[in-house]
Amino acid sequence: MSGHILIVGAGQAGMQIAVSLRDDGYEGSITLVGEENHAPYQRPPLSKAYLAGEADEESLELRNPDFYVDNKIVVITSEQVESVGWGEEHGIAVTNTGKELPFDKLAIATGADPKPLTCEGGDLDGVLYMRGIDDANALKERWGSIRNIVVIGGGFIGLEVAAVAQKYGKTVTVLHSRDRLMSRAVGPEVSEFFLEAHRKRGTTVHLNTRVNKLHGDSGKVTGVELPDGSVIPADAVMVGIGVSPRSELAEQLGLTTENGAIVVDAFARTSDPRVVASGDVALLPHPLTGERMVMLESVQNAVDQSKVAAKSLLGASEEYHAVPWFWSDQADLKLQMAGLSAGYDQSVLRGNPAEDKFSVLYYKNGRIIAVDAVNDVSDYMAVRRALTAGQTIPADLAADSSVALKTIFAD
Ligand code: NAP
Repeated sequence: MSGHILIVGAGQAGMQIAVSLRDDGYEGSITLVGEENHAPYQRPPLSKAYLAGEADEESLELRNPDFYVDNKIVVITSEQVESVGWGEEHGIAVTNTGKELPFDKLAIATGADPKPLTCEGGDLDGVLYMRGIDDANALKERWGSIRNIVVIGGGFIGLEVAAVAQKYGKTVTVLHSRDRLMSRAVGPEVSEFFLEAHRKRGTTVHLNTRVNKLHGDSGKVTGVELPDGSVIPADAVMVGIGVSPRSELAEQLGLTTENGAIVVDAFARTSDPRVVASGDVALLPHPLTGERMVMLESVQNAVDQSKVAAKSLLGASEEYHAVPWFWSDQADLKLQMAGLSAGYDQSVLRGNPAEDKFSVLYYKNGRIIAVDAVNDVSDYMAVRRALTAGQTIPADLAADSSVALKTIFAD
């Protein structure tokens, strides 16, 4: 097939669509536009190894520059697509510098933006976010002068940054609005374990709390005020309070959106079959959630859904059914999750949290639906494999931690 395919968003999802189009034999033109001043790169290390100084910028690149030339993928960086629309013969996108990019088919992989801290003082110097390389660099540049850091939000971003800051001897305080950490992603035992783990390593964690306002001096943040009026000193504030999908272009095209996300079907098609969407911007159906549509903000989803999106752009229909998986590195703890635990009615604890090695298996109606594993790759891999194969792992047998899960798969 020939033609012009425009991919807006040069993150993991946009990049994967381009790669898959070529893998699937598409010979027409591909243009990949991203607003950042960087060729496509991996985001997960930003709040982990990159921040810790264990990975450099070059090692984050998803492909080396020759790859784009060899595969005839035109990559445009530092340009934001501001408008899109359909003409009689094709579509046209216009960037912030006035560049016009024609297309026959469009892929929207614009991802999500960090939610801003809207309280008084939220715009002070030293209030930082963690989404792109430039954000990570902004924190790294200040690193040496930071003694006290307050992290707002006890999700993955907040806790990963907190763990690195703790390791480097900063005084770290985490303020979380919910009654347990990472509550969107993991079960209560795992939240409790990480609460203790961060506290044991010296981080102060406040749950069920919100920020009243930020204090500053000469435009620079100096402290964070809690609802009781107390002020925690801060040379820097890291905000990780979730993300908002970037669906402005979808709205311009009149595509169906819900809560700001682009609604897609199992083939990553939007409400206009000429347009696909994948990655953090998409709200999708998934076999594991039945009727409920989900957002899957992960590398796994960006990659697997984009493979499906590329097929749809080429007129094929391959249904998305990959098992979701995620990971998070916090201090010496590797948290790995597979499946989706929401709605579970039974859980099984294996191993020993006191030894920093355990897993929690989640069941619904007697069948396994997910696992959270801490420093336990074999339990994580076993559950991921069982879910991929459509098998279960009987809960009564799994309760014996000495039994290897891979030996007790059942239909
Ligand atoms: P997140 O996972 O949504 O966690 C943010 C947490 O902060 C939520 O529990 C949120 O509670 C809470 N919060 C909201 N407003 C707050 C406030 N004013 N004060 C204190 N806490 C507040 O989002 P994130 O950690 O910012 O991560 C951003 C994105 O990057 C997510 O899509 C995440 O999945 C992704 N990411 C993934 C990984 C990984 O997979 N390892 C690592 C880093 C980032 P509510 O739920 O009530 O809003």
